Amino acid sequence: MSEETKQEAVDKYVKLSDPGWDEAKPVGKQAGTPAKVTLRLLDYPGVGVFRHWIGDAQVKRPFNCPGSKNGCPACRERNIAKLADTEGEGKWRSIHRMDHRDIVNVLELGETPKLKVFQISNSVKKRLDAIIARGEQFADPTTYDIEVMKSRTGRNTFDVEYDVFAVKDGNHRPLTADEKALLAKKYDLSQEITPADPQTIAAAMKGLKTGPGPATEEQKAEVQRVLKNQGLTALDVGVTDLDTITAEKAQAIIKDLG
Ligand SMILES: [Zn+2]
Repeated sequence: MSEETKQEAVDKYVKLSDPGWDEAKPVGKQAGTPAKVTLRLLDYPGVGVFRHWIGDAQVKRPFNCPGSKNGCPACRERNIAKLADTEGEGKWRSIHRMDHRDIVNVLELGETPKLKVFQISNSVKKRLDAIIARGEQFADPTTYDIEVMKSRTGRNTFDVEYDVFAVKDGNHRPLTADEKALLAKKYDLSQEITPADPQTIAAAMKGLKTGPGPATEEQKAEVQRVLKNQGLTALDVGVTDLDTITAEKAQAIIKDLG
């Protein structure tokens, strides 16, 4: 992928930045303002897709699920683990974790409106559905602008909460000429939901198991923490140099001793 294409790919999607977290401040009194973006949905409900997140603990990538009936190897592993889960612990849910997105075209509103693709998560969808349920004025969410806000609720990057508001209480603002011109260029959403090839998924899963690549800095730090807690040295677990440890070894140490 060329730099240009990469940039395009990044800009194509609505992205809410991380509002950050200040450990010194209590929950609810966080200094940073929540990240927010104002949007006009151009499709609703758009197209839905189930995705698997495949990779190691640090770097996971989404793969559109082709469905277990179409030979999805990630679903197969999940299903096997689910059947084996006679205690009902539910750990299988985190194996090649699945999520769902409703994908729509939107206008991202700012100084100049931009045509983008918005991947609506379940939590945003829930908030949006609550607005839609408010009455006739809100029934069609493509007729008014919305504001999506992202706040942090804890120290981990995944401790986030979303909220959605109808701008000016759902005022049916007509689109400007510029916005209408963008509307005519909507992205073809079918490529967003194209299922991944089962072989591609299998290869990604295999990469996960062998994990020959170097560990990330986070993994190394975690290994150090785990060893310290256990009163062990790196040599005790067969590691001569923590700097050159593989992702696979780091994961094994974290999993077995952490
Ligand atoms: Zn699947």
